Amino acid sequence: MTVPLFTGLDLGGTEVKVGLCSATGEVVWSDRRPSGAHLGQQAILQALAEAVDAALLEAKSRGGSVAAIGLGTPGVVDPSSGIILYPVANLGGWHGTDIVGFFRDRYQVPAVVENDANSAAWGEYATGAGKGARVLLAATVGTGIGGGAVIDGELLRGTSGGAMELGHILLERSGLPCNCGLVGCVEAYAGGWGMAAEWARRRSIEDPPTVSELIGAGLDGDELANEVLDDGARALGSGMMSALHLLNPDVVVIGGGIIDARPRHLELIEQTLRSKVLPKAVASLKVVKAQHGNRAGLIGAAMCAQKAVREGNRG
Ligand SMILES: [Zn+2]
Repeated sequence: MTVPLFTGLDLGGTEVKVGLCSATGEVVWSDRRPSGAHLGQQAILQALAEAVDAALLEAKSRGGSVAAIGLGTPGVVDPSSGIILYPVANLGGWHGTDIVGFFRDRYQVPAVVENDANSAAWGEYATGAGKGARVLLAATVGTGIGGGAVIDGELLRGTSGGAMELGHILLERSGLPCNCGLVGCVEAYAGGWGMAAEWARRRSIEDPPTVSELIGAGLDGDELANEVLDDGARALGSGMMSALHLLNPDVVVIGGGIIDARPRHLELIEQTLRSKVLPKAVASLKVVKAQHGNRAGLIGAAMCAQKAVREGNRG
């Protein structure tokens, strides 16, 4: 009997990460390749298909076979149909795509698609820092802020896939404009792009630097950069207080490039979110760093696929 392996795909604006995971979430192989996102829907589908083809070959060479495919994607995913809803920034023509149908027709194995923040949350719940949580709240701090929640063993998706938009919780009623079109969102203060823009404002520079430049400056001891990053961490902590009041989690998992690069960031977030919250919302709360690092997306997607097979959902 061949060993069942699960293909996880993490689609981003510039690249797609692909991996093969065992049923217990161990990554046995992973790779990355250009996502072709700027070239539109067909180019993205082709990049995903090539990534899956490579995974199939790898699985075979290891005496295994791919039992299911999972994809984590930016944007809102319709929980019942798996179709991508709403235009997605950086992914031209991606909305309206029936990615589950595409995979199923091409590979004849079950396929699932989740919002990328949701699949990362699921990965931490299934095999990472949130294992065993009853109510898990997960946050990813990158260019934007991703949020996800698992409650009693199920992802919280909402009626139309729009739940857990942690980055767009209101922080300031008449605050800074957000990329989403609203104002005062947590992401405008705590997301990488928001903090980079703030760093530029405080130095009266017109073109915002990149998030990596900001983090690099902070690590090099640039005082202003660290002040901006610290303020961003506190802003996320404040925003997350609202989520604690709504969800009353037992575990909060926080990850992302900024968290990996800067241990102080997580400390400040935790300090802030515990400081003004009602005691009943943080009773027995653990705040932990995500375990899966930059493989969170692909591990999460693979574990979503594993869950679908376990539950007999043929995709
Ligand atoms: Zn927003």
